[in-house]
Amino acid sequence: MSDNIVSFRKRFFPDATNDQWHSWKWQLQNRLDTPTKLARIIELTDTELSAFDSSQQRIPFAVTPYYLGVVAADNQNNALRKSVVPVADEFRFHADESGDPLTEEAHSPVPAIVHRYPDRVLFLATRQCAVYCRYCTRARIFSQPLPAISRTTHWKEGLDYISQNKQIREVIISGGDPLLLEDETLKSLLQEIRQIPHVQIIRLGTKIPIVLPQRITAELVNMLRSFHPLILSLHVIHPDELTREAVEAITLLADVGIVIGSQTVLLRDINDNTSVIQKLMEGLLKLRVRPYALFQCDPVLGAGHFRTKLETGIKIIEELRLRTSGYAIPHFIVDPPGGKVTLAPNTLVSKDRSGYKLKNWKGTHIEYADPVSGES
Ligand code: SF4
Repeated sequence: MSDNIVSFRKRFFPDATNDQWHSWKWQLQNRLDTPTKLARIIELTDTELSAFDSSQQRIPFAVTPYYLGVVAADNQNNALRKSVVPVADEFRFHADESGDPLTEEAHSPVPAIVHRYPDRVLFLATRQCAVYCRYCTRARIFSQPLPAISRTTHWKEGLDYISQNKQIREVIISGGDPLLLEDETLKSLLQEIRQIPHVQIIRLGTKIPIVLPQRITAELVNMLRSFHPLILSLHVIHPDELTREAVEAITLLADVGIVIGSQTVLLRDINDNTSVIQKLMEGLLKLRVRPYALFQCDPVLGAGHFRTKLETGIKIIEELRLRTSGYAIPHFIVDPPGGKVTLAPNTLVSKDRSGYKLKNWKGTHIEYADPVSGES
């Protein structure tokens, strides 16, 4: 175990046996999910107390004992702390924010499906997460008293929809977090999807290896490997999350050939600087995780305090180009209702009949011309 987690566990969970601490079910059963439980471990700040006191619970609060250890429980200024512990700013709503910023409801033909792009769908398999991120784009599904997603009705409707729409090439299982499903339950869903002939790729969107690495067992990865080609979109926001436990979990997944790409939300005062993102992306690459997406934080109701200007993300990408290799540079993506847009520093300065003026990684302008021998 990571040293800080060892001391955290000794101090705050002295009665937990090794087996218990390393059990994902024990971690879930012992989540800190009330301010009273949390306050036994960390001293809550005024803004956190005020958020907990609010009668309008935006998103449930819950954090695994393991992940609370990661967020350096004894440090009120830890950057990751505000990603999971509510603050009063959550209840300051702004005119540009929405409960459904991606207009997913309008693109949901049946409750378990979001269909925004012709060739791929989101399959919402569960409404549970191991921890609740305060900036979650899908906060609305946790904040409303919706019935649990049913396997017999919602899953079946979703699978029927995919079967009937032959242009669907890729299914992204998300939620909630699909890796919270029991092995057998997840296996049966994967089997059903794999039986649909036109589905080529299955993707799992998850934060579990980061917040509940105990869930990534040999049994789970052996089950998953039988469903290749399988892509895992790993939600990770900060290099401090790459603990020894997370590294072991990611390694287990990579060792069975699962393609892993990262998804990072750009968050003010948490990871909105180039050094933090560079350390995270280079750390991921070493673990065989392809740095894939750096997302502009969506205008979710009550998440204004997490949002940065678009220029911040573009500048981070520009600075990464000076500092590291292309493999460690994610795409910077903003996701307005009409569909995702990738933003990058402008490297085409001008174009005329004689050719192009380009800007290289150092910012130097370079002349470039098309081939003179025709276009084909
Ligand atoms: S793990 Fe993902 S779905 Fe769950 S609360 Fe966090 S951002 Fe939302």
